[in-house]
This record gives sequence, structure tokens and C-alpha cells, in this order.
Amino acid sequence: MDLPASAALVARLVVLDAVGSTNSELVRLVAADPGAWPAPAVLVTDRQTAGRGRLGRVWSARAGDSLAISLLLRPDVPRERLGWLSLAAGAAMTEALAGLGVPARAKWPNDVLIGGRKVCGVLAEVLPEPSGAVGSLGAGVVIGAGLNHAAARKDLPVPTATSLAAEGGPTDPDLLIAAYLTRLLPLVRAFEAAGGDPDASGLRARVRSTSDTIGRRVRVSRPDGDVLGEAVDIDPDGRVVVDRGPILGTVACSTGDVEHLRYE
Ligand code: ATP
Repeated sequence: MDLPASAALVARLVVLDAVGSTNSELVRLVAADPGAWPAPAVLVTDRQTAGRGRLGRVWSARAGDSLAISLLLRPDVPRERLGWLSLAAGAAMTEALAGLGVPARAKWPNDVLIGGRKVCGVLAEVLPEPSGAVGSLGAGVVIGAGLNHAAARKDLPVPTATSLAAEGGPTDPDLLIAAYLTRLLPLVRAFEAAGGDPDASGLRARVRSTSDTIGRRVRVSRPDGDVLGEAVDIDPDGRVVVDRGPILGTVACSTGDVEHLRYE
């Protein structure tokens, strides 16, 4: 893979022919030699053999079907604000695809959908200190995005998945990665400049405007029971706010699986 446009946007970009997980590999490489990985840096492959999702879930794709893009950032923001970066990545990928003519929408907290099917999943990880931080710079964060660019519909791993090829969208890796970075990096810079304030930086507005979850009836599965209602907002802590009706009122959910309900 030749990625000149994408490489021009970051301090370092490395393409691997194949790797288990780009997130795990980038975390390992940065821990081994932090000075060799200035931020922003990207590790990418189209042959990820042991891709990971949230909660130990698996991201699977045939060789050449999906791009695994891991981005190293060292944002100078308070640690408790770092969770906004994975929402930023989902918003940036959604905007990038929309800019290329693909009707993509973001599903809180970490998916990008086309027509209700997942085309991209995001998985962010904070690097352990002290290897994650270099000098006075902020904590290291690796944001992974798995993007089904080239898969034929028959080769998609699960019925809830789709791909850019299956949707008639663009499939060129350099075009896609550069479009994503072109949205995400300025968003991260604005977030840093605002000291990690999601409102002052405009980040929360971008997350809201790309959200397919706001305005939908949802079920959020949580360990302490399901929350059922209408998703009405993403709050200043990045949580989805669910309106359960006049008696139960609203509740903000920070984690959990969200199901967009079509019928009630
Ligand atoms: P869900 O997508 O079920 O709401 P999630 O958002 O937590 O869950 P992730 O952990 O980000 O999902 O990703 C893992 C899940 O994505 C798997 O459980 C599987 O259902 C789905 N999946 C695996 N590989 C792909 C792929 N190539 N394209 C789309 N979806 C995939």
C-alpha cells in the first residue's frame, strides 16, 4: 500500500503487510521506543489477523478487505477528557465518508454505519505511563479504526456489517485515510487548544451533528439493567442521554451496548 497523501499529514506513517492488531502493535512499539514515535503517528495494514473490538470482542476481515488504522496522539488535555477522542474519531470518519458521497452516520459510542450497518468500528486505548508520555507531553492514546473498504458483500463477516465497496463508495486506501486524518487532526488540535473542553472546541457539536443515535429509540444494555427510551443528547462528559418518559425521566449512560430500535 502506497499512502503519500496520508503520510504527509502525520509525523510518521508505517504500513505493515500484515499484523495481529494494529492497536496492540502500536502500543508495543511506542512502549519499546517512545522517542521513535512522535505524534501524530499512524500504523496501518489491510491484513489484520487478530483485530479487537470492545469488551474482548473480535473484529474480523479477510486479507485486503478492511483497513486497520491506528493513530498515536499525545494530546495535552486532562486525562478524564481522553474519552472524547474516540467520539472525535467516529465523528471524523463519518464526516470523511460523507464528504466522499457516502451516507455515513455515527452510532454512539464507537461505530460508523451506512444504512444501519457497520462500516467502521473505533477502539481507543490509553497508553500506560510512563512510556506513554514523552517529556512534558500528554498521555499517549492510540485510536484504532477498522474500516471495511474493499469487502464484497458476500465476504462480510456478520450480517450487521457493510463495506464501502458493497455500498458503491470509494475504496482507495490513501484517499480514505487522508480524508479521515484531515477531519480528525484539526478536531484534536481544537480540543487541545480549548484545554479539553468539548463545547469550546466544537467537538461536542460535531459529535452531535454526525450522530445517528440522537433522536432514535434505543435500548442501552448495562450490567444493572436495560435503559429504554429516546436518545436525546450527548452530554458534556460524552455520555448518551436517554429520555425514559415523564415518570422515569432522563438518564446519562457512559457505557453499554446500544441497540437502535426500529419498532416499539
Ligand atoms: P456492536 O457492533 O455489536 O454494537 P460494538 O460496537 O461493541 O458492538 P466492537 O467491539 O466495536 O462492537 O466490534 C466488534 C463487533 O463488531 C463484533 O462483535 C462483530 O459483531 C462486529 N464485527 C466484527 N468484524 C466486523 C467487520 N469487519 N465489520 C463490521 N462489524 C464487524
